[in-house]
Amino acid sequence: MSDIQNFDIVIIGGGPAGGLAGLALAAQGFSCAVVDAMDPAEMRAAPFDGRTSAISYASARVFKRLGLWDAMAPEAEAIRDILVTDGRAKSRFSDGTVSRFFLHFDSRELGEDQPLGWIIENRVIRDALFDAIAAEDGVTLFAPARRAATKFNPGEAVVDLADGRRLCAKLVIAADGRHSALRAEAGIKTNEWRYNQTGIVATVAHERPHEGFAQEFFLPSGPFAILPMTNNRSSLVWTERTAAAPAYMALNDKAFRIEIENRFGPYLGPVTPAGPRWSYPLAFTLAQTYVAPRLALIGDAAHAVHPIAGQGYNLGIKDIAALTDVLAEGRDVGLDIGALTVLQNYQRWRRFDSASLALGTDLLNRLFSNDFGPLRFARDIGMGAVGRVKPLRAFFMRQAGADLGALPSLMAREG
Ligand SMILES: Cc1cc2nc3c(=O)[nH]c(=O)nc-3n(C[C@H](O)[C@H](O)[C@H](O)COP(=O)(O)OP(=O)(O)OC[C@H]3O[C@@H](n4cnc5c(N)ncnc54)[C@H](O)[C@@H]3O)c2cc1C
Repeated sequence: MSDIQNFDIVIIGGGPAGGLAGLALAAQGFSCAVVDAMDPAEMRAAPFDGRTSAISYASARVFKRLGLWDAMAPEAEAIRDILVTDGRAKSRFSDGTVSRFFLHFDSRELGEDQPLGWIIENRVIRDALFDAIAAEDGVTLFAPARRAATKFNPGEAVVDLADGRRLCAKLVIAADGRHSALRAEAGIKTNEWRYNQTGIVATVAHERPHEGFAQEFFLPSGPFAILPMTNNRSSLVWTERTAAAPAYMALNDKAFRIEIENRFGPYLGPVTPAGPRWSYPLAFTLAQTYVAPRLALIGDAAHAVHPIAGQGYNLGIKDIAALTDVLAEGRDVGLDIGALTVLQNYQRWRRFDSASLALGTDLLNRLFSNDFGPLRFARDIGMGAVGRVKPLRAFFMRQAGADLGALPSLMAREG
Protein backbone atom coordinates (compact mmCIF):
# COMPACT_ATOMS: atom_id res chain seq x y z
CA MET A 1 0.00 0.00 0.00
CA SER A 2 1.73 3.18 -1.18
CA ASP A 3 -0.51 5.95 0.08
CA ILE A 4 -0.73 5.70 3.88
CA GLN A 5 -1.43 8.72 6.07
CA ASN A 6 -1.45 8.88 9.87
CA PHE A 7 -3.78 10.94 12.05
CA ASP A 8 -4.84 10.97 15.69
CA ILE A 9 -8.47 10.60 14.66
CA VAL A 10 -10.32 9.68 11.44
CA ILE A 11 -13.92 10.89 11.23
CA ILE A 12 -16.19 9.12 8.75
CA GLY A 13 -18.86 11.58 7.59
CA GLY A 14 -18.42 15.27 6.83
CA GLY A 15 -22.03 16.27 7.52
CA PRO A 16 -23.04 18.73 10.25
CA ALA A 17 -21.77 16.39 12.99
CA GLY A 18 -18.56 15.10 11.38
CA GLY A 19 -17.41 18.52 10.16
CA LEU A 20 -17.96 20.11 13.56
CA ALA A 21 -16.22 17.22 15.33
CA GLY A 22 -13.11 17.74 13.18
CA LEU A 23 -12.97 21.43 14.13
CA ALA A 24 -13.63 20.85 17.85
CA LEU A 25 -10.95 18.15 18.08
CA ALA A 26 -8.41 20.13 16.03
CA ALA A 27 -8.91 23.05 18.44
CA GLN A 28 -7.64 20.67 21.16
CA GLY A 29 -4.55 19.83 19.13
CA PHE A 30 -5.65 16.51 17.61
CA SER A 31 -4.80 15.88 13.95
CA CYS A 32 -8.01 14.81 12.20
CA ALA A 33 -9.09 13.41 8.86
CA VAL A 34 -12.69 14.04 7.83
CA VAL A 35 -13.91 11.66 5.10
CA ASP A 36 -17.12 12.14 3.15
CA ALA A 37 -18.40 10.19 0.18
CA MET A 38 -19.97 13.28 -1.37
CA ASP A 39 -18.42 16.22 -3.16
CA PRO A 40 -18.48 19.27 -0.83
CA ALA A 41 -19.54 21.46 -3.78
CA GLU A 42 -22.68 19.31 -4.10
CA MET A 43 -23.33 19.41 -0.34
CA ARG A 44 -23.05 23.20 -0.35
CA ALA A 45 -25.36 23.71 -3.36
CA ALA A 46 -28.78 25.20 -2.60
CA PRO A 47 -30.88 22.20 -3.78
CA PHE A 48 -29.02 19.74 -1.48
CA ASP A 49 -30.79 20.39 1.83
CA GLY A 50 -33.69 22.77 2.30
CA ARG A 51 -33.91 22.32 6.06
CA THR A 52 -33.27 24.79 8.78
CA SER A 53 -32.04 23.80 12.23
CA ALA A 54 -33.32 25.17 15.49
CA ILE A 55 -30.04 25.75 17.32
CA SER A 56 -30.20 25.92 21.10
CA TYR A 57 -28.28 28.61 22.94
CA ALA A 58 -25.95 25.99 24.46
CA SER A 59 -25.16 24.75 20.93
CA ALA A 60 -24.60 28.33 19.76
CA ARG A 61 -21.91 28.66 22.47
CA VAL A 62 -20.03 25.81 20.74
CA PHE A 63 -20.19 27.63 17.39
CA LYS A 64 -19.02 30.83 19.10
CA ARG A 65 -16.09 29.19 20.88
CA LEU A 66 -14.94 27.51 17.68
CA GLY A 67 -15.06 30.81 15.77
CA LEU A 68 -17.94 29.71 13.51
CA TRP A 69 -20.66 32.02 14.79
CA ASP A 70 -19.62 35.20 12.95
CA ALA A 71 -20.21 33.44 9.62
CA MET A 72 -23.66 32.24 10.73
CA ALA A 73 -24.96 35.17 12.77
CA PRO A 74 -26.08 37.41 9.86
CA GLU A 75 -28.34 34.58 8.67
CA ALA A 76 -29.50 33.33 12.08
CA GLU A 77 -32.98 34.41 13.19
CA ALA A 78 -33.51 34.66 16.95
CA ILE A 79 -36.44 32.74 18.46
CA ARG A 80 -38.05 35.08 20.98
CA ASP A 81 -41.24 33.13 21.68
CA ILE A 82 -42.46 29.60 21.14
CA LEU A 83 -46.17 28.93 20.85
CA VAL A 84 -47.25 25.29 21.02
CA THR A 85 -50.89 24.57 20.25
CA ASP A 86 -52.91 21.38 20.48
CA GLY A 87 -54.81 21.56 17.24
CA ARG A 88 -54.79 24.43 14.81
CA ALA A 89 -54.37 27.90 16.25
CA LYS A 90 -57.00 30.41 15.38
CA SER A 91 -55.74 33.75 14.12
CA ARG A 92 -53.48 34.87 16.94
CA PHE A 93 -52.91 38.27 15.43
CA SER A 94 -56.28 39.02 13.89
CA ASP A 95 -58.63 38.38 16.81
CA GLY A 96 -56.23 37.48 19.60
CA THR A 97 -57.60 33.99 20.16
CA VAL A 98 -55.80 30.70 19.87
CA SER A 99 -56.91 27.15 20.37
CA ARG A 100 -57.82 26.88 24.06
CA PHE A 101 -54.94 24.50 24.68
CA PHE A 102 -51.63 26.13 24.11
CA LEU A 103 -48.30 26.83 25.74
CA HIS A 104 -46.47 30.09 25.37
CA PHE A 105 -42.75 30.17 26.12
CA ASP A 106 -41.45 33.73 26.31
CA SER A 107 -37.66 34.26 26.32
CA ARG A 108 -38.14 37.40 28.44
CA GLU A 109 -39.33 35.19 31.34
CA LEU A 110 -35.81 33.79 31.71
CA GLY A 111 -34.65 37.36 32.40
CA GLU A 112 -31.30 36.86 30.67
CA ASP A 113 -31.86 38.96 27.58
CA GLN A 114 -31.17 36.10 25.25
CA PRO A 115 -33.38 34.33 22.73
CA LEU A 116 -34.63 30.77 23.17
CA GLY A 117 -32.43 29.74 20.26
CA TRP A 118 -31.87 30.52 16.60
CA ILE A 119 -33.17 29.21 13.30
CA ILE A 120 -30.32 28.72 10.84
CA GLU A 121 -30.47 27.26 7.33
CA ASN A 122 -28.53 24.00 7.07
CA ARG A 123 -26.74 25.35 3.99
CA VAL A 124 -25.41 28.24 6.11
CA ILE A 125 -24.13 25.78 8.73
CA ARG A 126 -22.48 23.61 6.06
CA ASP A 127 -20.82 26.66 4.45
CA ALA A 128 -19.42 27.83 7.79
CA LEU A 129 -18.09 24.33 8.55
CA PHE A 130 -16.45 23.73 5.15
CA ASP A 131 -14.88 27.24 5.11
CA ALA A 132 -13.48 26.73 8.61
CA ILE A 133 -12.14 23.26 7.71
CA ALA A 134 -10.35 24.72 4.67
CA ALA A 135 -8.63 27.23 6.97
CA GLU A 136 -7.74 24.73 9.74
CA ASP A 137 -4.37 22.94 9.45
CA GLY A 138 -5.45 20.33 12.00
CA VAL A 139 -8.20 18.95 9.72
CA THR A 140 -7.59 17.23 6.37
CA LEU A 141 -10.73 16.77 4.29
CA PHE A 142 -11.03 13.71 2.06
CA ALA A 143 -14.08 14.35 -0.11
CA PRO A 144 -15.41 12.95 -2.27
CA ALA A 145 -13.93 9.77 -0.83
CA ARG A 146 -15.87 6.74 0.29
CA ARG A 147 -14.80 4.60 3.22
CA ALA A 148 -14.55 1.06 1.92
CA ALA A 149 -13.32 -0.96 4.92
CA THR A 150 -12.10 -0.47 8.47
CA LYS A 151 -9.97 -2.70 10.70
CA PHE A 152 -9.73 -2.19 14.43
CA ASN A 153 -6.31 -3.55 15.43
CA PRO A 154 -5.03 -3.59 19.02
CA GLY A 155 -2.73 -0.56 18.51
CA GLU A 156 -4.48 1.41 15.76
CA ALA A 157 -7.47 1.58 13.44
CA VAL A 158 -6.98 1.34 9.68
CA VAL A 159 -9.45 2.92 7.28
CA ASP A 160 -9.28 2.00 3.60
CA LEU A 161 -10.85 4.40 1.14
CA ALA A 162 -12.45 3.14 -2.05
CA ASP A 163 -9.80 4.99 -4.10
CA GLY A 164 -6.98 2.93 -2.54
CA ARG A 165 -5.73 5.42 0.05
CA ARG A 166 -5.24 4.17 3.61
CA LEU A 167 -5.70 6.26 6.78
CA CYS A 168 -4.37 5.09 10.16
CA ALA A 169 -5.41 6.53 13.53
CA LYS A 170 -5.80 5.82 17.24
CA LEU A 171 -9.54 6.38 16.98
CA VAL A 172 -12.27 6.33 14.33
CA ILE A 173 -15.43 8.38 14.83
CA ALA A 174 -18.59 7.27 13.03
CA ALA A 175 -20.47 10.37 11.89
CA ASP A 176 -21.88 8.64 8.83
CA GLY A 177 -25.53 9.30 9.63
CA ARG A 178 -28.61 7.38 10.57
CA HIS A 179 -27.83 4.38 8.31
CA SER A 180 -24.22 4.22 9.55
CA ALA A 181 -22.49 1.34 7.78
CA LEU A 182 -19.54 1.67 10.13
CA ARG A 183 -21.81 1.12 13.14
CA ALA A 184 -23.24 -2.03 11.53
CA GLU A 185 -19.80 -3.37 10.56
CA ALA A 186 -18.64 -2.90 14.16
CA GLY A 187 -21.53 -5.14 15.22
CA ILE A 188 -23.35 -2.40 17.15
CA LYS A 189 -27.07 -3.10 17.20
CA THR A 190 -29.79 -0.46 17.16
CA ASN A 191 -33.35 -0.03 18.33
CA GLU A 192 -35.22 1.45 15.41
CA TRP A 193 -38.64 1.93 13.97
CA ARG A 194 -40.19 3.96 11.19
CA TYR A 195 -42.84 6.55 11.89
CA ASN A 196 -45.64 6.41 9.41
CA GLN A 197 -44.82 10.07 8.87
CA THR A 198 -42.88 12.16 6.37
CA GLY A 199 -41.46 15.61 7.09
CA ILE A 200 -42.34 18.02 4.26
CA VAL A 201 -39.97 20.98 4.38
CA ALA A 202 -40.46 24.27 2.54
CA THR A 203 -39.63 27.94 2.90
CA VAL A 204 -42.31 30.60 2.57
CA ALA A 205 -42.16 34.37 2.34
CA HIS A 206 -44.95 36.31 4.06
CA GLU A 207 -46.37 39.78 4.24
CA ARG A 208 -46.47 40.34 8.01
CA PRO A 209 -43.44 40.02 10.33
CA HIS A 210 -43.08 36.85 12.41
CA GLU A 211 -41.60 38.82 15.34
CA GLY A 212 -39.37 35.89 16.26
CA PHE A 213 -42.34 33.58 17.01
CA ALA A 214 -41.82 29.86 16.41
CA GLN A 215 -45.14 28.04 16.28
CA GLU A 216 -45.93 24.38 16.45
CA PHE A 217 -49.44 23.07 15.91
CA PHE A 218 -50.06 19.48 16.94
CA LEU A 219 -52.36 18.17 14.22
CA PRO A 220 -53.65 14.58 14.04
CA SER A 221 -51.26 13.76 11.16
CA GLY A 222 -48.29 15.13 13.12
CA PRO A 223 -46.73 18.42 14.20
CA PHE A 224 -46.77 21.40 11.85
CA ALA A 225 -43.98 23.85 12.70
CA ILE A 226 -43.51 27.40 11.43
CA LEU A 227 -40.01 28.58 12.21
CA PRO A 228 -38.89 32.21 11.85
CA MET A 229 -36.16 32.96 9.31
CA THR A 230 -34.34 36.10 8.20
CA ASN A 231 -35.80 38.38 5.50
CA ASN A 232 -39.41 37.87 6.54
CA ARG A 233 -39.43 34.20 5.67
CA SER A 234 -40.44 31.12 7.63
CA SER A 235 -39.41 27.51 7.37
CA LEU A 236 -42.17 24.90 7.50
CA VAL A 237 -41.68 21.45 8.89
CA TRP A 238 -44.97 19.81 8.08
CA THR A 239 -45.28 16.25 9.35
CA GLU A 240 -47.77 14.32 7.26
CA ARG A 241 -48.87 10.71 7.03
CA THR A 242 -46.47 9.00 4.65
CA ALA A 243 -49.26 7.84 2.33
CA ALA A 244 -50.55 11.41 1.89
CA ALA A 245 -47.18 13.16 1.54
CA PRO A 246 -46.51 12.47 -2.19
CA ALA A 247 -49.80 14.15 -3.14
CA TYR A 248 -48.86 17.30 -1.19
CA MET A 249 -45.37 17.22 -2.68
CA ALA A 250 -46.85 17.09 -6.18
CA LEU A 251 -49.21 20.07 -5.77
CA ASN A 252 -48.56 23.10 -7.90
CA ASP A 253 -47.47 26.26 -6.05
CA LYS A 254 -50.96 27.74 -5.95
CA ALA A 255 -52.58 24.62 -4.48
CA PHE A 256 -49.67 24.18 -2.04
CA ARG A 257 -50.09 27.78 -0.89
CA ILE A 258 -53.78 27.17 -0.21
CA GLU A 259 -52.95 24.05 1.83
CA ILE A 260 -50.41 25.87 3.97
CA GLU A 261 -52.63 28.90 4.42
CA ASN A 262 -55.35 26.56 5.71
CA ARG A 263 -52.94 25.35 8.36
CA PHE A 264 -51.32 28.72 9.13
CA GLY A 265 -54.38 30.82 9.62
CA PRO A 266 -54.01 34.45 8.59
CA TYR A 267 -51.54 35.70 11.20
CA LEU A 268 -48.63 36.15 8.78
CA GLY A 269 -50.78 37.58 6.00
CA PRO A 270 -50.57 36.04 2.52
CA VAL A 271 -47.76 33.49 2.20
CA THR A 272 -45.80 32.62 -0.93
CA PRO A 273 -43.71 29.46 -1.39
CA ALA A 274 -40.08 30.57 -1.77
CA GLY A 275 -38.11 27.76 -3.37
CA PRO A 276 -38.52 24.00 -3.74
CA ARG A 277 -39.98 21.44 -1.29
CA TRP A 278 -38.13 18.56 0.28
CA SER A 279 -39.45 15.45 1.98
CA TYR A 280 -37.78 13.31 4.66
CA PRO A 281 -39.19 9.94 5.76
CA LEU A 282 -39.07 9.97 9.57
CA ALA A 283 -37.62 7.17 11.67
CA PHE A 284 -36.17 6.53 15.10
CA THR A 285 -32.73 4.95 15.49
CA LEU A 286 -30.84 4.52 18.74
CA ALA A 287 -27.52 2.66 18.90
CA GLN A 288 -27.36 0.22 21.81
CA THR A 289 -23.84 1.36 22.62
CA TYR A 290 -21.96 4.47 21.46
CA VAL A 291 -18.46 3.01 21.74
CA ALA A 292 -16.32 -0.01 20.88
CA PRO A 293 -12.54 -0.38 20.97
CA ARG A 294 -11.13 2.46 18.79
CA LEU A 295 -14.63 3.56 17.72
CA ALA A 296 -17.06 6.24 18.94
CA LEU A 297 -20.45 7.11 17.42
CA ILE A 298 -21.72 10.69 17.24
CA GLY A 299 -24.69 12.53 15.72
CA ASP A 300 -27.33 10.59 13.79
CA ALA A 301 -25.05 7.52 13.71
CA ALA A 302 -25.69 7.30 17.47
CA HIS A 303 -29.31 8.58 17.60
CA ALA A 304 -31.70 9.80 14.90
CA VAL A 305 -34.81 11.32 16.43
CA HIS A 306 -38.17 12.74 15.39
CA PRO A 307 -37.86 16.45 14.47
CA ILE A 308 -40.84 17.35 16.70
CA ALA A 309 -38.61 19.22 19.16
CA GLY A 310 -35.81 20.32 16.78
CA GLN A 311 -33.21 18.48 18.88
CA GLY A 312 -31.41 16.06 16.49
CA TYR A 313 -28.37 18.14 15.60
CA ASN A 314 -28.29 19.74 19.07
CA LEU A 315 -27.82 16.26 20.53
CA GLY A 316 -24.99 15.68 18.07
CA ILE A 317 -23.33 18.96 19.07
CA LYS A 318 -23.42 17.91 22.71
CA ASP A 319 -21.88 14.53 21.77
CA ILE A 320 -19.05 16.35 20.04
CA ALA A 321 -18.41 18.73 22.95
CA ALA A 322 -18.46 15.85 25.48
CA LEU A 323 -16.23 13.58 23.37
CA THR A 324 -13.74 16.44 22.90
CA ASP A 325 -13.45 16.87 26.70
CA VAL A 326 -13.11 13.12 27.28
CA LEU A 327 -10.40 12.64 24.63
CA ALA A 328 -8.41 15.73 25.64
CA GLU A 329 -8.47 14.67 29.30
CA GLY A 330 -7.44 11.11 28.39
CA ARG A 331 -4.55 12.29 26.24
CA ASP A 332 -3.39 14.80 28.87
CA VAL A 333 -2.93 12.04 31.44
CA GLY A 334 -1.11 9.85 28.92
CA LEU A 335 -3.91 7.41 28.03
CA ASP A 336 -4.57 5.86 24.61
CA ILE A 337 -7.56 7.81 23.21
CA GLY A 338 -8.83 4.73 21.40
CA ALA A 339 -8.91 2.57 24.52
CA LEU A 340 -12.32 1.41 25.63
CA THR A 341 -11.70 2.63 29.19
CA VAL A 342 -11.37 6.21 27.88
CA LEU A 343 -14.30 5.93 25.45
CA GLN A 344 -16.58 4.56 28.16
CA ASN A 345 -16.42 7.97 29.86
CA TYR A 346 -18.06 9.39 26.73
CA GLN A 347 -20.64 6.61 26.70
CA ARG A 348 -21.53 7.25 30.38
CA TRP A 349 -21.85 10.98 29.77
CA ARG A 350 -23.94 10.89 26.61
CA ARG A 351 -25.89 7.69 26.17
CA PHE A 352 -28.39 8.03 28.97
CA ASP A 353 -28.94 11.76 28.31
CA SER A 354 -29.47 11.40 24.56
CA ALA A 355 -31.48 8.17 24.86
CA SER A 356 -33.90 9.84 27.30
CA LEU A 357 -34.32 12.84 25.03
CA ALA A 358 -34.73 10.61 21.96
CA LEU A 359 -37.42 8.55 23.69
CA GLY A 360 -39.04 11.74 25.01
CA THR A 361 -39.45 13.08 21.46
CA ASP A 362 -40.90 9.72 20.44
CA LEU A 363 -43.43 9.84 23.27
CA LEU A 364 -44.37 13.43 22.49
CA ASN A 365 -45.03 12.50 18.87
CA ARG A 366 -47.18 9.50 19.84
CA LEU A 367 -49.08 11.52 22.42
CA PHE A 368 -49.92 14.39 20.10
CA SER A 369 -50.17 12.89 16.61
CA ASN A 370 -53.65 11.49 17.05
CA ASP A 371 -57.21 12.49 17.71
CA PHE A 372 -58.09 9.91 20.36
CA GLY A 373 -60.48 11.72 22.76
CA PRO A 374 -59.23 10.53 26.21
CA LEU A 375 -55.61 11.07 25.19
CA ARG A 376 -56.40 14.55 23.92
CA PHE A 377 -58.08 15.31 27.28
CA ALA A 378 -55.05 14.07 29.27
CA ARG A 379 -52.49 15.96 27.20
CA ASP A 380 -54.52 19.16 27.35
CA ILE A 381 -54.61 18.93 31.16
CA GLY A 382 -50.83 18.50 31.10
CA MET A 383 -50.39 21.50 28.83
CA GLY A 384 -52.65 23.56 31.06
CA ALA A 385 -50.56 22.66 34.12
CA VAL A 386 -47.26 23.60 32.49
CA GLY A 387 -48.78 26.74 31.02
CA ARG A 388 -49.87 28.01 34.44
CA VAL A 389 -46.66 27.38 36.39
CA LYS A 390 -43.83 29.80 35.62
CA PRO A 391 -40.95 27.65 37.01
CA LEU A 392 -42.18 24.73 34.90
CA ARG A 393 -42.20 26.92 31.82
CA ALA A 394 -38.66 28.10 32.67
CA PHE A 395 -37.58 24.46 33.10
CA PHE A 396 -38.88 23.55 29.64
CA MET A 397 -37.19 26.60 28.11
CA ARG A 398 -33.84 25.63 29.62
CA GLN A 399 -34.38 22.02 28.53
CA ALA A 400 -35.03 23.20 24.96
CA GLY A 401 -31.92 25.39 25.21
CA ALA A 402 -29.94 22.25 26.19
CA ASP A 403 -28.70 24.25 29.15
CA LEU A 404 -29.31 21.72 31.92
CA GLY A 405 -27.17 18.95 33.37
CA ALA A 406 -23.41 18.50 33.14
CA LEU A 407 -22.25 20.72 30.30
CA PRO A 408 -18.99 20.04 28.43
CA SER A 409 -16.49 22.93 28.36
CA LEU A 410 -17.42 24.07 24.84
CA MET A 411 -21.02 24.49 26.08
CA ALA A 412 -20.43 25.80 29.59
CA ARG A 413 -22.08 29.03 30.70
CA GLU A 414 -19.83 32.08 30.81
CA GLY A 415 -18.53 33.18 34.19
C1 LIG B 1 -37.23 17.38 8.74
C2 LIG B 1 -36.10 17.48 9.71
C3 LIG B 1 -35.94 18.63 10.48
C4 LIG B 1 -34.90 18.72 11.42
N1 LIG B 1 -34.81 19.84 12.19
C5 LIG B 1 -33.85 19.93 13.14
C6 LIG B 1 -33.74 21.07 13.99
O1 LIG B 1 -34.52 22.02 13.89
N2 LIG B 1 -32.76 21.10 14.94
C7 LIG B 1 -31.89 20.07 15.09
O2 LIG B 1 -31.03 20.13 15.99
N3 LIG B 1 -31.95 18.97 14.29
C8 LIG B 1 -32.90 18.87 13.33
N4 LIG B 1 -32.97 17.77 12.51
C9 LIG B 1 -31.96 16.70 12.66
C10 LIG B 1 -30.65 17.02 11.94
O3 LIG B 1 -30.91 17.42 10.61
C11 LIG B 1 -29.73 15.81 11.96
O4 LIG B 1 -29.58 15.39 13.30
C12 LIG B 1 -28.34 16.12 11.39
O5 LIG B 1 -28.43 16.54 10.06
C13 LIG B 1 -27.46 14.88 11.45
O6 LIG B 1 -26.17 15.19 10.99
P1 LIG B 1 -25.06 14.06 10.88
O7 LIG B 1 -23.81 14.76 10.43
O8 LIG B 1 -25.02 13.22 12.11
O9 LIG B 1 -25.58 13.05 9.72
P2 LIG B 1 -25.77 13.28 8.16
O10 LIG B 1 -26.22 14.66 7.86
O11 LIG B 1 -26.62 12.15 7.69
O12 LIG B 1 -24.30 13.13 7.54
C14 LIG B 1 -23.69 11.88 7.35
C15 LIG B 1 -22.57 12.05 6.33
O13 LIG B 1 -21.83 10.82 6.23
C16 LIG B 1 -21.47 10.62 4.88
N5 LIG B 1 -21.21 9.18 4.66
C17 LIG B 1 -22.09 8.15 4.81
N6 LIG B 1 -21.49 6.97 4.50
C18 LIG B 1 -20.20 7.25 4.16
C19 LIG B 1 -19.08 6.46 3.74
N7 LIG B 1 -19.13 5.12 3.60
N8 LIG B 1 -17.92 7.09 3.46
C20 LIG B 1 -17.81 8.44 3.58
N9 LIG B 1 -18.85 9.23 3.98
C21 LIG B 1 -20.03 8.65 4.26
C22 LIG B 1 -22.67 11.14 4.08
O14 LIG B 1 -22.28 11.51 2.76
C23 LIG B 1 -23.09 12.36 4.92
O15 LIG B 1 -22.53 13.57 4.47
C24 LIG B 1 -33.99 17.64 11.57
C25 LIG B 1 -34.13 16.48 10.79
C26 LIG B 1 -35.18 16.40 9.87
C27 LIG B 1 -35.33 15.13 9.06
